[in-house]
Amino acid sequence: MLTVSTLSDQETEHLNEGVLVNHSAKDVLAWSYRTFGDQLVYACSLGAEGMVLLDLIAEVHPDAHVVFLDTGLHFAETYTLLDEVRERFPTLNIKALTPENTVEEQKQQYGDRLWASRPDLCCKMRKFEPLEKELSHYTAWISGLRREQSPTRKDTPFIDKDQRFSLLKICPLIHWTQEDVWAHIHERDLPYNTLHDNHYPSIGCAPCTAQVLDGSDERSGRWSGMQKTECGLHW
Ligand code: SF4
Repeated sequence: MLTVSTLSDQETEHLNEGVLVNHSAKDVLAWSYRTFGDQLVYACSLGAEGMVLLDLIAEVHPDAHVVFLDTGLHFAETYTLLDEVRERFPTLNIKALTPENTVEEQKQQYGDRLWASRPDLCCKMRKFEPLEKELSHYTAWISGLRREQSPTRKDTPFIDKDQRFSLLKICPLIHWTQEDVWAHIHERDLPYNTLHDNHYPSIGCAPCTAQVLDGSDERSGRWSGMQKTECGLHW
């Protein structure tokens, strides 16, 4: 089986420039499940891309493993969506990952606004560590990154070596635009986070997500006003 340690840089390039190039997201997913089977997991943030990927994955591999990082700090709308997703895709194995400390325990130990004082530490404890622990059981993971989302994502390939988690990382939606994503959601009548209808193009934890009202890039509402732009899960 391909793993992060057996796949050479040359083979990675061959997959991206040859085997997978010009293939649809569904084809990339089908190849991924043929290659990795149940050693593949989708880390879903329940964003708009997540709805598309869940829909495609449920068709390609109905009992696929899916994880959602339940930081305990999501909007109520996000938890409502999680229930709707479980109902819409009953065959998928959807697991919510929780941090070691509850929000209350974190508050007692670090103060009640760690996301404002030390957001990197907060993300490390509430997102990175639970995901790292779960991903240690797998060989590859799927992410909904798209190239047009932000300047830091403009060169994202279909498959890459993710040294941070020692896994292969597959991003089937790299060529999709925001319009493509929403066209698929509406065409398939998929559930989605209703905050998207209220100027929240990208949604994370409630304390670190703001509306985007000025036409800035779609991730500009995340950690708005801070230096931080990523939660540390993606390079
Ligand atoms: Fe904490 Fe904000 Fe990161 Fe959520 S996004 S884990 S609240 S710093």
